[in-house]
Order: sequence, then structure tokens, then C-alpha cells
Amino acid sequence: MTIDVAAIRNDFPILHREVNGKPLVYFDNAATSQTPKAVIDALVDYYSNTNANIHRGVHALSQEATDAFEQARQKIQKHFNAAKPHEIILTSGTTHSINIVASGYGALLSPGDELLVSAMEHHSNIVPWQMMAEKTGAKLQVIPMLPSGVLDMEAYQELLSANTRLVFVNHVSNALGTVNPIADIIDLAHAQGAHVLIDGAQAAPHIVADVQALDIDYYVTSAHKLCGPTGIGMLYGKEALLNQLPPYQGGGEMIAEVTFEKTTYADLPHKFEAGTPNIAGGIAFGAALDYMNSIGFEAIAAYEHELLSYATTALKKIPNLKIYGEAPEKTAVISFNVGDIHPYDLGSILDKLGIAVRTGHHCAQPIMDYYQIPGTVRASFSFYNTTAEIDAMVAALERAIQMLT
Ligand code: PMP
Repeated sequence: MTIDVAAIRNDFPILHREVNGKPLVYFDNAATSQTPKAVIDALVDYYSNTNANIHRGVHALSQEATDAFEQARQKIQKHFNAAKPHEIILTSGTTHSINIVASGYGALLSPGDELLVSAMEHHSNIVPWQMMAEKTGAKLQVIPMLPSGVLDMEAYQELLSANTRLVFVNHVSNALGTVNPIADIIDLAHAQGAHVLIDGAQAAPHIVADVQALDIDYYVTSAHKLCGPTGIGMLYGKEALLNQLPPYQGGGEMIAEVTFEKTTYADLPHKFEAGTPNIAGGIAFGAALDYMNSIGFEAIAAYEHELLSYATTALKKIPNLKIYGEAPEKTAVISFNVGDIHPYDLGSILDKLGIAVRTGHHCAQPIMDYYQIPGTVRASFSFYNTTAEIDAMVAALERAIQMLT
């Protein structure tokens, strides 16, 4: 289970550029991963050879484009082991996917219903639900977390009740890297008759979630986190559940029949795919999964784990550096601060030295409030990063700390 990092790096044109006169060290993978040539080629090839609108043309290009888009859906279905291709809705990304489900529940919830959200969610898995709770009178409750950055599973069990309609939790926290115990979370929720939405935006680049084996009700992710383009992602939902949800947007593609008196809706997946989708993006999403599967997710996870251990050990040697999130099971994300230096100042100096890290609240302000900090510096690693790059980050960090203290 080893990977050939030097060969892999050659697949990514951007990794050969410089930033501020220094070789780029890209450690902002949790925000957006880089794009291999195979995926760039899929985009260029689509626009060079196939470009046409899908599902409604009889001409050759339209049919070829439709076939390529539907083949991509099948690749995604196979990757997540969904039972049927139409259980995969192609969306613009995780945020769009969550909004489809949350707005759908707006029609199903009533006062007295309870929604459970974890304390370590991205804003996109909080705000749409808050909006629906406000609209319907459902009660939003929070599963607390513990200082090590894991969820308090005892509190979760106490919060679950026969009134719980839906639980929404990320598979992996973007700010902390914590891998949440989704199998237990789902089993406990199902025992109370509640459904579960898993936000897989941070997990999908590292872990393959088998939606049938885990009995997942809804799983969402974005292609740009796993070597695909921006503006495309997916919503997996069990067929029976997606059929219960009203459409999110009205328009072309999502209808069966339209009259001014009444419109009937198309079947899945089209009911949730109003308008012309990101066709090239969908095809490239499929190409990204092909690319990552050609390396192998087990090999990717094992290598990234080595990077995580190496970086954690190196960073812990820096005086006054505090890591937030030390869950026993983590992806390759390290959130940290050094003394009372503002994370923005550290991030800016690292950038001058060619090192791209994220600074701020990472769209997870409740986590920052929990630790009573304004934000963190976040370094997130991918399978194309190296220990030499981690050494470069540590050296740059030591220089930045000297300058700032
Ligand atoms: N959830 C998590 C855990 C994330 O990390 C992100 C992206 N930072 C999102 C949701 C939102 O994804 P997108 O912006 O692609 O919709």
C-alpha cells in the first residue's frame, strides 16, 4: 500500500508553479484540492468535442453529452455503492445538496419535531436547518463536543428521542479533522426512527463511505474536495426518502408535464436537477473518482496518515504551539495557534514564503467559540504532499514566529 508521490506530483500541473518566488507548498487541501491533468483533460475534451445540452436533444452531440453525464452518475453511484443511479442527484456542491434536503424537510416538519446537529459542523450544515427550524417551529438541538475534539456520544444518546426527526453530522470535521463514528450515530438515530444526513465534504477525499453498508439516509459531498472541479457535487438519498421530499427549484428538466393549471414533476433524479446542470463538471467529477481510485483510497489514507503523524510530531516541538482537535481518529488536518499570535499574521507570513495554509474560523464559528479563540491556522495535507514540504512549513513557521514575537 505505498504510493509513488513523485509520479503523482507530475499529474498535477499547478504543483510545479512558484508563489512569491518560492516553490508552492499547498496545504489548503481541506478547502479545495488540486486538479490532476486527467480531470483538466476531461473538461477540455468535453468542451472541445462534445459540448451540447443534455436529455432533450436528438442530435449526436446531445446524445453523447447525455451518455457521458449519465455515465458519470453511474461512476458516482458505484463509488458510494448506492443501490440505484437515480439516488445520486448531481448538485452544485455540498451546500446545494444540504439546502435541497433542508428545504424539503420544511414541508415535512411541524412544531414539536426535533432536529439534532453536531457542535462541530460547517456553517452549511447549520444555517439551512436553522432557517427550516424557524419556518416550521421544529426545535434545533446541539450534540456537544469534548475538548479533544470528539462528539459527546453519551449526550447524543440522551438528546435522541422519539421526537427526533433528523440528525445531521459531518463524517469528518473540516476544522479539526475528527472522523466521527457515523455507524453508531446512524444506528442510534434509526433506533428512534430518525433519519441521518452525513456531510461527507471532508471525508470523501480520504474515506469511501458505503451508503448501503452504513445504511446512510443522505450523504453529500463536493467534487472540488476530491480532485474534481468546483461547482459540482452530489446528494445521495435513499429513493423512498427523496421521493417524499418536494422539489427544491422549479424549472426545465424537473417536470413531467406543465400547464398553467398544474405541473407534475419528473422522476428522480431529474426532480432535483432543474435547469441545465454543470455537464462538464459532472463528467469531470467521474474522471476525478477514476483518478483517485486508480491510486486507491486505502493507499491514499495510509500515506496521508504518515504525513499527519510526521507533521504533528514536528509541530509539537515548536514552543507554545497548541493543536486543536486530537481525536484518536483523524484525517490529515492540523488546526493550531502559537501563543497569542493572531492566526492571520502567521498565515500571511507563511504565504510570503510560498506556503498556502488556511487561517480563520473555517466556516465553523461554533467550534472557535467552544475553544474561545478567534480562529486557527489550518494545514491540511493530501496524497500529493511530501514530508519535505512539511519541513519547509515548519522552518517557515519558526521564521514567522521569530518575526512576530
Ligand atoms: N461541509 C464541510 C465539512 C466542508 O468542509 C465544506 C467546505 N469547506 C462544506 C460543507 C461546503 O462545501 P461547498 O462549499 O463545496 O458547498
